[in-house]
Amino acid sequence: MCGIVGYIGHRDAAGLLLNGLRRLEYRGYDSAGIAVLNGGLKMFKQKGSVDELRRSLHDAGNPLNGATIGIGHTRWATHGDPSDRNAHPHVSSDGRIALIHNGIIENYPAIKKELISKGVHFSSDTDSEVLVHLIESIWSDNPGMALEAAVRSALYHVEGAYGLCVISEREPDSIVVARKGSPLVIGIGEGEYYIASDAAPIVEHTKKVVYLADGEMAVVTRNDGFAIKTIENIAREKHVSELEFELAEIEKGGFEHFMLKEIFEQPKVLQDVMRGRVRLDEGQVRLGGIEDYLDRLKLSSRVIICACGTSWHAGLIGEYLIEEFARIPVEVDYASEFRYRNPVITRDDVVIVISQSGETADTLAALRLAREKGALVMGICNVVGSTIARETLCGIYTHAGPEVGVASTKAFTAQVTVLYLLALTLGKGRTMSRNELKLYLKELNGIPEKVERILKQNDLILEIAKNYKDAGNFLYLGRGYNFPVALEGALKLKEISYIHAEGYPAAEMKHGPIALIDQDMPVIFIATRDNSYAKVLSNIEEVRSRKGKVIAIANHGDDEIGRLADHVIYIPPASAPVTPLLSVIPLQLLSYHIATLRGCNVDRPRNLAKSVTVE
Ligand code: GLU
Repeated sequence: MCGIVGYIGHRDAAGLLLNGLRRLEYRGYDSAGIAVLNGGLKMFKQKGSVDELRRSLHDAGNPLNGATIGIGHTRWATHGDPSDRNAHPHVSSDGRIALIHNGIIENYPAIKKELISKGVHFSSDTDSEVLVHLIESIWSDNPGMALEAAVRSALYHVEGAYGLCVISEREPDSIVVARKGSPLVIGIGEGEYYIASDAAPIVEHTKKVVYLADGEMAVVTRNDGFAIKTIENIAREKHVSELEFELAEIEKGGFEHFMLKEIFEQPKVLQDVMRGRVRLDEGQVRLGGIEDYLDRLKLSSRVIICACGTSWHAGLIGEYLIEEFARIPVEVDYASEFRYRNPVITRDDVVIVISQSGETADTLAALRLAREKGALVMGICNVVGSTIARETLCGIYTHAGPEVGVASTKAFTAQVTVLYLLALTLGKGRTMSRNELKLYLKELNGIPEKVERILKQNDLILEIAKNYKDAGNFLYLGRGYNFPVALEGALKLKEISYIHAEGYPAAEMKHGPIALIDQDMPVIFIATRDNSYAKVLSNIEEVRSRKGKVIAIANHGDDEIGRLADHVIYIPPASAPVTPLLSVIPLQLLSYHIATLRGCNVDRPRNLAKSVTVE
């Protein structure tokens, strides 16, 4: 799930690895560790942050310095509690092989049992440790074998997901890497190579990278570069790609947190999503990544959207948009449910998978199932070259730039914008005239400036947040396009402030949640002027008459709301289909401020990982 870095070259590995681990911190983790080869194998690992690891290394006299090959890991515990002993790397019994692993080895109990019966002693509770002992055991049975072959034959026995790196004293000039399910990238420098679970630690060193595909391995050597093979030992060609982002994009740029920076980036991000795709004067949308499949997309009998978390909320808005603009029936499924419930999928279906990272394990599995059943599978993701991008037949990148904050903000609005463009593209010529399309595009084009205006109210939103930082619960209510926004607002608050929050369609309140309303329950209403506005006003009255506190998101010029609500955050008026791009902004800021006022680490909320590569 979490972070992998590796380095082989001519510079000090330990420093580079620590720096690389720092760049991966945003993915969320609970412990960190490094192993290097410098004469012998040396390893240092512990529970806690990369900074704490750096300090401990310093206090110990920097015992890993001077090596030019090494591997580093940030762990997000799946098996065994976060502790020093469960941190990676894991080392073989003879202390000569070190391994780091992302993912889950599903059949580890059986392997562990067998190894224990052969007398192997385990030092951790992790699933990962079986790998290093398995490699050692295979190697000691076959002393002439190369490390690569020993790793390969260990992987034959393994079920589950992995991104892994292995080093050994016996082959001090190579790192063996393999991936199945968990991403790995190799960066090509000048006489040096970097390995990482995403490009963030690599970009400051080189822009040239090779993404390993699922089921591939590589041996990265100091002098002879690297070769890629499949785990079945079939040679594969290397496709070198160019990274498209700069280091500055993954740094904070003067903001206190990545999350705040990313919230404030949204006007630019929305422009980036549209750039080169929208021709306002001609009323044209060009989505290069789906052009070849457009006819089939338009003829589809049904669209199924599969995603998780925030992307699933974007998918719900996508449902409203595609049904409204293109009149194609849409279903939205949690990817994790879709794949396990034997869904009906036909060749006339289009399955759209949405994932910021493009690596979300559940979404990837849904994609593969849909492909197997013959549906046309399309991806919407942010990370260029990610597994979902590569495994879908066609797709649209969100171009939101790297999102570092664990709680998604700009990726969400970028996804919604992409879905808006997609819905218009599908609708054009089917149900929508060019003139209508022009109007909708014009409306979208005005959104970045309106988002800018909402962001100017940051101070006001901070003041409102001060009133509610100690609340124990929140209710978020909205209707129509604002219902998924209510869900997203509640999720954002939960994720970063640890306050319990629920999102509901406003009209559902009376079917249950109303029982919760009292003077201690803040209720956020998204009450923009659309066709359900009057109904939402009645819901506000219902909350007020039960003494609930009301925070309303309403349109400028709406005085009525000012009379009813305890606090109002005004947003510029817009038509219903683009409203989510505006109404979600104050909710992001409100969550951010409530969380920081409570002293929470908003960029790295507890227990969460940025890229969820386990099921
Ligand atoms: N399953 C492994 C563990 O719990 C690896 C977790 C990770 O991906 O960080 O140690």
